[in-house]
Amino acid sequence: MATTGKSAAVSHVGKIRSNNQDSGYAGRYLFVVADGMGGHAGGDVASAIAVKRITETDRQYSSPNDAEFALRSALLAANSLLAETVFEHGELTGMGTTVSGIVRVDDHIAMAHIGDSRIYLFRDGVLKQITADHTFVQRLVDSGRITPEEAAVHPRRSVLMRVLGDVDASPEIDTAVMKTLPGDRWLICSDGLSSYVTEDKIQAVLGSFPTAQEAAERLVKESLDQGAPDNVTIVLVDVDASGDSAHEPPLTVGSAAVPLVFEADSIRRPMRLPSLLLHPLKATQTDDSHFEPESDEYLAALIAEDRRRARKRRVSWLAFVLIVIAVIVAACILGYQFTQRHYFVGAVDGRVAVFQGVQQDIGPIKLSHVYKTTTIDLDELSPYYQQQVEATMNANSLAEALGIVDRLSDARKP
Ligand code: CA
Repeated sequence: MATTGKSAAVSHVGKIRSNNQDSGYAGRYLFVVADGMGGHAGGDVASAIAVKRITETDRQYSSPNDAEFALRSALLAANSLLAETVFEHGELTGMGTTVSGIVRVDDHIAMAHIGDSRIYLFRDGVLKQITADHTFVQRLVDSGRITPEEAAVHPRRSVLMRVLGDVDASPEIDTAVMKTLPGDRWLICSDGLSSYVTEDKIQAVLGSFPTAQEAAERLVKESLDQGAPDNVTIVLVDVDASGDSAHEPPLTVGSAAVPLVFEADSIRRPMRLPSLLLHPLKATQTDDSHFEPESDEYLAALIAEDRRRARKRRVSWLAFVLIVIAVIVAACILGYQFTQRHYFVGAVDGRVAVFQGVQQDIGPIKLSHVYKTTTIDLDELSPYYQQQVEATMNANSLAEALGIVDRLSDARKP
């Protein structure tokens, strides 16, 4: 197969999933990634239908704005097609798909995007995310409720607020036109890459593998190295001065690359309730992308539940800290009391003294104090006893310490 090497498309089922619900396409002017959802009820069908429909727009456009309009229209047409398919095949109810795509028009890129697949621009060694995720957690980040770091590990990070599917007849699609320069690399990927491989790592790979094919394969490998819990799809488009990034011939990968089989085995598919008919807060799947309708009431319910969780986390964290402090304080008190049952004989200002406690100190904390100073001068003792007193003499009780003092008193030089 002859390729120009200026673009690449790679899709992998990953290490956990049994089927690939992603689809990707690298064509002459058009490049797309779609990530389907709906479990066994059609995620693969949804992304395949969408990508097949959208690839009909792979042609040369006279202006970037024409391309943007055509791409947007293609996504809306794919949305209608998905709704029609669900109408004819009830078992596919609830299926949906993300779509992120670009069309190259000379030194411009037209793009359209819905869902949480991503378009990145790698320029002058720096990776920049161009699209915004249509996810619940991105909403929370945008409104300042959580940080991007918290979003990355949030239990609801795969809840999507917008997709193509059978729910909304006119879904809101983000579109844009951007200038592109020779040397730019456009990366389109499913969340099977962006959720598991850091942007630093992606940037490093794009900076070190010169051909699109090698870089795309390496990105898939990075995801596999992270355990690849999800399907992963990469479409990479290199821009050079020729104005041509074409994949020749066009290449389709993932579920759109295999024939649609849902009609043949539809009887085996279990009937599933669409997620919006279930209680929204109970329908949560933390390990799987799924779509939730973007209604204000639903968003309010999610945010309220989120606050409750955060409050609960804060309360249990505070309780934990208090218990730890109590344990440390109790240990210190018990330990101090233990040391104060001991005595020893030593010297203070040239005199023999009885100390309560132990000789060792903990940093600045003294574990002993003078209990009683005697009238015995060190000078009155023999050099042997002087040495003994200066080195301190242990006693297991006050009586034993006083006994030592008596012996020293008796041993005074006449
Ligand atoms: Ca995915």
